[in-house]
Amino acid sequence: MCGIVGYVGPRRATPILLEGLKRLEYRGYDSAGIAVGLAGSASEEGGAKGAPKASGNRLQVIKKIGKIAALRAVVPKDLPGDWGIGHTRWATHGGVTDANAHPHLDASGKIAVVHNGIIENYRPLREMLEKDGVRFASETDTEVIPNLIARYYEGDLEAAVKAALGHFEGTYGIAVIHADHPGLIVGARNGSPLVVGVGEGEMLLASDVTAMISHTRQVVYLNDGEVVVIEPSGYRTTGRDDRPVDKKVDQVTWELNNIEKGDYPCYMEKEIFEQPESIARALSGRIDRETASAKLGGLNLDKRRLREVGRVHVIAAGTSWHAGLVGAGLLESLARIPASAELASELRYRNPVVEKDSLWFAVSQSGETADTLYAMREIQRKGGTVLGVCNVVGSTIARESEGGVYVHSGPEIAVASTKAFTSQLAALYLFTLQQARMRDLSMEEGLRFIEALEAVPGAVKKVLGGRDELQRIAKKYSHATDFLFLGRGLMYPIALEGALKLKEISYIHAEGYASGEIKHGPIALVSPEVPSVFVVPDDGLREKTISNMREIKARGGPVIAIGVEGDGEVASIADDFFGVPKGDPRFYPFTMIVPLQLIAYFCALELGRDVDQPRNLAKSVTVE
Ligand code: GLU
Repeated sequence: MCGIVGYVGPRRATPILLEGLKRLEYRGYDSAGIAVGLAGSASEEGGAKGAPKASGNRLQVIKKIGKIAALRAVVPKDLPGDWGIGHTRWATHGGVTDANAHPHLDASGKIAVVHNGIIENYRPLREMLEKDGVRFASETDTEVIPNLIARYYEGDLEAAVKAALGHFEGTYGIAVIHADHPGLIVGARNGSPLVVGVGEGEMLLASDVTAMISHTRQVVYLNDGEVVVIEPSGYRTTGRDDRPVDKKVDQVTWELNNIEKGDYPCYMEKEIFEQPESIARALSGRIDRETASAKLGGLNLDKRRLREVGRVHVIAAGTSWHAGLVGAGLLESLARIPASAELASELRYRNPVVEKDSLWFAVSQSGETADTLYAMREIQRKGGTVLGVCNVVGSTIARESEGGVYVHSGPEIAVASTKAFTSQLAALYLFTLQQARMRDLSMEEGLRFIEALEAVPGAVKKVLGGRDELQRIAKKYSHATDFLFLGRGLMYPIALEGALKLKEISYIHAEGYASGEIKHGPIALVSPEVPSVFVVPDDGLREKTISNMREIKARGGPVIAIGVEGDGEVASIADDFFGVPKGDPRFYPFTMIVPLQLIAYFCALELGRDVDQPRNLAKSVTVE
């Protein structure tokens, strides 16, 4: 969701900003823009009080709705840009128009701002500024920011930004430039991520390291309430009260090719096919055969505290919530710990009971999901211990939680999550094993669990070998306008996730249901035009699910079954059948989600959708 990039240094800013915006595309956006400073000749006099003397400096703003390619097409080829900022907008206030796109200028045209987030009290601020004669050029909440900064500006941009920030309620990550301050960007964050990229003789600022990874791997993550000033020679971080804040420089560990498509036509296909390796990475170094348990050092909880856990709650949204549902089911059955997965957006406003012996997990790929972050803070406020399960290292949830597990799936660029989901499962399975081994699970059972867990990457690889067959099935049904996805037990969240994937990228309406529940309503939808996708492992619920399949067939509904290889009975009932390798039933969530990911993917391809950047969606959902 929405992105920021900024550059100061000896190179031309424009191409660096456009490249950075291109790398931020995956987050989902509807318009984009840049503001570059063009230095005039050095002057003797001029500039505001205290400002560097400069004459003829000006800011050029270019913004456009649509893709970065549309912006690139209107940026003059030879526009140097001596320093600058760029933005991808995901509209919250005001329609998708060129005027509402960022950067926004103050009325004098000297200050440019890009903003991620929402200024909740923008109305009274705008009214106040309008009364003072400020004319606004957009409908956005953002435009009050440059105008309020301008009001406080007396030659010191940083001071003016800090003074203005005191008025804003809501969330922001901002980058600000001023025509009279060449080679200087002021950034500030409150609820929307901002990272400084430390180069040699040049500095970058971005909402996400992907925007600058091709220039530097040395980064500094800002915290809420911090303000940074970057200049080619370095950076300076302070609190809003001017107190200096010492920051640690982190090293990004992944490579540029992790965020490039390679030979794949799109990121989603690449990420689906990366799952054998990404799951193995999530498990790597975390299995201890000697104790038949899991080693999760990052939890930061001692053994006694871990043994005392009486209840586990997962806080999450979307795909992560589905991973949480699987994890909660497994915790209950294997570790015998009561567990549930809560929708973060609901939990936050529910006044939840925070019991002393409860442990909370905030699960979020990006680690920036606003709903999850705010729910987590609410639980912490009430004394609850929250651990993070995140993919993005250094993300807000990872930093604000008491400890946690990085899932190490590598950068996930496609908006629809695939490999992060299976890695989240891996993390929750490891935690479950650890909890179970501290309670009733025997050494022998622990080792059996480990063997099955270690077999997962290989089994997923085999499923991926069925690509062509799944493409055939997807093609056959891609004309349908409605789908049902059905499963029981651990397969119920898998059915929910299968339906979500299809909705997200193909825009086909799909409902995920517990298969025992269809007779209580959804069966009314069944007709020859509505395919039902059943997830039917050879577990204790197989017979029950088969009965549900027959109920659909009896009413003329086409059935696609994802079952276990060699299951002749399921194959004979279904119109189309795909089998995953036979294994320990507790691990089918890993293998059975993969065919559903591929069916969604191939349906979307068949319908000509933009698979990596589906309409209306954003990768990292940083607004409530
Ligand atoms: N609220 C701002 C707008 O609608 C910023 C949205 C964003 O984060 O991209 O323009």
